[in-house]
Amino acid sequence: MLLSITTTHAPATDLGYLLHKHPDKCQEFELSFGKAAVFYPEASLERCTAALLLDIDPVGLVRGKRGGYALEQYVNDRPYVASSFLSVAIAKVFGTALSGNCKNRQQLAETAIALTAKLAVLPCRGGEAFLRRLFEPLGYTVTAQHHQLDANFPDWGESNYFTVELENTVRLQDLLSHLYVLIPVLDDDKHYYINDDEVEKLLRHGEGWLSSHPEQEAIAKRYLKRQGRLVRTALAQLVEEDNPDPDSAEESHALEEAAVEKPISLNQQRLETVLAILKETGAKRVLDLGCGEGRLVRTLLKENTFTEIVGVDVSYRSLEIAQERLHLDRLPAMQRDRVKLIQGSLTYRDKRLSGYDAATVIEVIEHLDPPRLASFERVLFEFARPNFVVMTTPNVEYNVKFENLPAGKLRHKDHRFEWTRKEFQMWANRVAEQFGYSVRFLPVGTEDPDVGAPTQMAAFSLD
Ligand code: SAH
Repeated sequence: MLLSITTTHAPATDLGYLLHKHPDKCQEFELSFGKAAVFYPEASLERCTAALLLDIDPVGLVRGKRGGYALEQYVNDRPYVASSFLSVAIAKVFGTALSGNCKNRQQLAETAIALTAKLAVLPCRGGEAFLRRLFEPLGYTVTAQHHQLDANFPDWGESNYFTVELENTVRLQDLLSHLYVLIPVLDDDKHYYINDDEVEKLLRHGEGWLSSHPEQEAIAKRYLKRQGRLVRTALAQLVEEDNPDPDSAEESHALEEAAVEKPISLNQQRLETVLAILKETGAKRVLDLGCGEGRLVRTLLKENTFTEIVGVDVSYRSLEIAQERLHLDRLPAMQRDRVKLIQGSLTYRDKRLSGYDAATVIEVIEHLDPPRLASFERVLFEFARPNFVVMTTPNVEYNVKFENLPAGKLRHKDHRFEWTRKEFQMWANRVAEQFGYSVRFLPVGTEDPDVGAPTQMAAFSLD
């Protein structure tokens, strides 16, 4: 099993510092399942390649295991292909580089440089398309050569094995983290028992990229060997991690709100409930008003029933983040054309908003100044006039239940108000009647017998 990493970032031999392995030496390492060797097939100032060769001992692997003789234990592809053994070897042999540290070239370790990783044999369950869906959103140029099952018997068709080259300008730490997580995902197998530690490993090595990866669900499922509880834990934490860059005030306030609500992963429950209601309506063309950083847009994009998804927000910065997180520029044209992000305010009449099946207004109304609510009502229910509207807002009664929220404080500094259930229902009932809609109310999150659920939802439909 061979992995090679090449850089052309001059002086290329600095790769030796980054990997903590001298280019002039061949070094060997003992691992529990065999041996690893690191050597440099080429090392010039213009171009330097480090190779990690794994020599897995298939007999040693089954020695001491019970269960009698099974041919498969002895005759399998494990010694030859990139698998979770390679991830373990990366962590053991390149551990310092994987954690982003470098004694002699720390600045270089923090710099994105031209890197190419080559995997001699990579099993890709899900084929080349899945391989591309994993690496291309991370900015890689992928070259994959598919291998036949047997060159003498072309009728047998293609195998699951590929020779793969991945080219990108990234930090070495990122490249190693991507390989560490995604190789076992492609192989869809792991040689060891999976427990809660694996969730922590996935989140640690996925930090900074997994929470915005369009295939995060598939990645978590396969990485955690489809163990439902672990997968759910990982996904819930990823949603929480995928919060905004704490540069601007609005963003750090959103973080605070997420922190207040975090113990119950309310965000995820909100998204799921909104999605369920939208599907129930049969809506195909959907507006997400006040889409923020595009969480819901991303969820809807994964569902083919929605043919057109338009995110609207007044904040240009939020739309920029949404655009980045959705990786629109890297999606196939068919997918990309389903999504539009537009800047606009919900308190001004806007022709671009009319003619849609449904509109969602998720955690937005409480950001509007009360004197502007009347304009918002007309913009949405009179002019845009979708057949369905799904709206959510915090239930202020529930705030006493958040341990980390001081009494009397709202969940977000930017909230102009937070309503009790009665206040929200009175407002929504009045609006429904005035504009000819019917409305029903649903709780989101676990309901408390005294104070209700943390989020309240109103689902309007045109009479
Ligand atoms: N719906 C998103 C974001 C909620 S935060 C989610 O659930 O994650 C509220 C969003 O409403 C912010 O992105 C803010 O920029 C937007 N917003 C506030 N006032 C607005 C207005 N008048 N017009 C359009 N968007 C507005």
